[in-house]
Amino acid sequence: MSEPVIKVKGLQTSFFIDDGEIPAVDSIDFYINEGEILGIVGESGCGKSVTSLSIMGLVPNPPGKITGGEILFNGENLVNASERRMRQIRGNDIAMIFQEPMTSLNPLFTISSQLTEAIRIHNKCSKKQAKDRAVEILKLVGLPRAEELINDYPHQLSGGMRQRVMIAMAMACDPKVLIADEPTTALDVTIQAQILKLMKKLNQDLNTAIMLITHDLGVVAEVCERVVVMYAGKIVEEGEVRTIFKDPKHPYTAGLIKSVPDMREKKERLYSIPGNVPKPGSVKTGCRFAERCEYAFERCWTETPELYETDVEGHRVRCFLHVGEEEVQSDRAITTG
Ligand code: SF4
Repeated sequence: MSEPVIKVKGLQTSFFIDDGEIPAVDSIDFYINEGEILGIVGESGCGKSVTSLSIMGLVPNPPGKITGGEILFNGENLVNASERRMRQIRGNDIAMIFQEPMTSLNPLFTISSQLTEAIRIHNKCSKKQAKDRAVEILKLVGLPRAEELINDYPHQLSGGMRQRVMIAMAMACDPKVLIADEPTTALDVTIQAQILKLMKKLNQDLNTAIMLITHDLGVVAEVCERVVVMYAGKIVEEGEVRTIFKDPKHPYTAGLIKSVPDMREKKERLYSIPGNVPKPGSVKTGCRFAERCEYAFERCWTETPELYETDVEGHRVRCFLHVGEEEVQSDRAITTG
């Protein structure tokens, strides 16, 4: 069995604004094994992107700050790492791609100058060697006529090609972990499928671990082995993709799965979970999903659920419905009186 390359333990990241502390990520624990693809899923405002920025050491400070916990990369705690050390790790060991390639690429410079710069920052090599490596990596991500395309500016490429260039930049230094934050959101479905296929191929060929952040469980089903579901800054369910799709335990996960359109079913309206994610820190007691949960009962409003183990190894869920049936039944009896 492969070892975790990243272990996140009790991570807390907050933003400090005039109204006080906003806990965006609230004591989360998870790991990414070498060479695996882990999905992190949830709606906007659940803390997925802040988690990835925390790992990269890119939380804007101020107003953001990691206030607790550890991020272990091959045993080294990145929370205590200096900015100089983080600059070595970013790109070399952990790389990131963002959802909108047009805003991540500089429109004033050719692909060649942006890609060779990234390579030369992390490797001692001549301009010629960096350009040869750049062409090689553009070919690796499936871009046609790489020798000519490298001299183009970002606006001369399509959205899918620009995202491939971003992936090439991230992969240029052969990182051990690639964090992809909604990498296909801005792309149409055909290009989305190609980019997901490419990421899976890179994972298989180069053994790069991938942390894929998405709001789309359909994407997770396609490429990930395990999934972590986040809600309002907390992990609410975690486990193997096939286990969670077959038998989702948390009502939020079940709602997300129900929201994925099924081409075989004819529906008037697509399902959506009613209500919105609460503002970080606004739910002081009880389950953070209670406002939107059709199964909420008295205990859900007065106690905060832990992440409980289920009877399937590695499957954890934060919901009182799965603590132990007898205990839950008696609670329901009190509620229904
Ligand atoms: Fe719903 Fe209660 Fe479970 Fe929260 S703990 S998800 S409110 S049943």
